[in-house]
Amino acid sequence: MRKIYLDNQSTTQLDPEIMDYMIPYFLKKFGNSSSKTHSYGWEAEAAVDLSRKHISDLINSKPNEIIFTSGATESNNIALSSILKSKKTNFITCLTEHRAILDICKSYENKGIKTKYLNISNNGNLDLDNLENNLSENVYMISLMHANNEIGTIYPIEEIGAICKKHNILFHVDAAQSLGKIPIDVKKMNVDFMSFSSHKIYGPKGVGALFVNNKHKNKIYPITFGGGQENGLRPGTLPVPLIIGFGEACKKANSVMLSESKKIKKMRDTLLSNIKKEIPNLIINGTMENRLHGNLNLSFPSLKGQSIVTSIPSVALSSGSACSSSISKPSHVLKAIGLNNNLCNSSIRVGIGRFNTEEDINLASDAIIKAIKNKN
Ligand SMILES: *Cc1c(COP(=O)(O)O)cnc(C)c1O
Repeated sequence: MRKIYLDNQSTTQLDPEIMDYMIPYFLKKFGNSSSKTHSYGWEAEAAVDLSRKHISDLINSKPNEIIFTSGATESNNIALSSILKSKKTNFITCLTEHRAILDICKSYENKGIKTKYLNISNNGNLDLDNLENNLSENVYMISLMHANNEIGTIYPIEEIGAICKKHNILFHVDAAQSLGKIPIDVKKMNVDFMSFSSHKIYGPKGVGALFVNNKHKNKIYPITFGGGQENGLRPGTLPVPLIIGFGEACKKANSVMLSESKKIKKMRDTLLSNIKKEIPNLIINGTMENRLHGNLNLSFPSLKGQSIVTSIPSVALSSGSACSSSISKPSHVLKAIGLNNNLCNSSIRVGIGRFNTEEDINLASDAIIKAIKNKN
């Protein structure tokens, strides 16, 4: 059976070109980047510095504003814990954030630190007037994602950054889904902290970064303690091969972003029109206007709440009922945009990526259409 991977919002395949850059750092150049007394250490440190530069080039920061972490979850934890612990809240985020944000807020709510959750409209957009109306009290930080991992909607980060600047509010952005897919400029967007993950952009799993604007360095505190690496903000021996892979993934994304997103968008539009031709009453979750090129999230009213994802074993898709890991609950994102349980359960999320082909798309459309017709 030919398998087709269409779950690129969950994770992406490691790009073989990036693997080639990593291999020497597993085998011959295995030094500890903190070793100051020999060439193994110097070589590793130089390579880590180059990766830091590749990442900063992609987001228009300075290399010394990048802290390596194990992924976006940890980056979110460092940024949010620092601020929530300081008790200078109020803190604002949104109902449709990733669990990696919502669960941190929940853990501080148990300690009496309140978070305000913004609503989202039925097409997944954030109402900026509503945001400004919520700023009357003493708000210290806002945390919002750049692009949603389920419905692909892109938030107007530059406008929100301008609002934060006007009201002197710190701004954290979870950019795990947008890095390397759409342009990011932390200066223009007035972002103070930003979280990234390597495995969403064809790099290795287990590495990510937190951008910390140099102006706000003194507001960030570590959540683990040890050998002083990353200015003491994220101690522990750096995973040099993973960092090299992440850096090269950013460098490649920087050069292919435009052409790749056109190609991916074309495949996404083909898939949608193929399915729509056969199942005209499908519902598209989230606006098609400001949306990640590779993302589609569809509900099928005719399925009356049945899920089709497991009836298409040849196509790797995700569903709106089990999308948050192993918990089989309707997606909090789809609920937030007003879907009932039946529409959540009948939904599929498609994530098209770098290694998909037109042939994949045609085979996947046929398989999806067949599965829906069989259930009716
Ligand atoms: C994947 C993802 C995360 C988690 O990233 P890890 O690197 O796997 O920890 C956080 N936020 C968003 C929006 C994501 O898509």
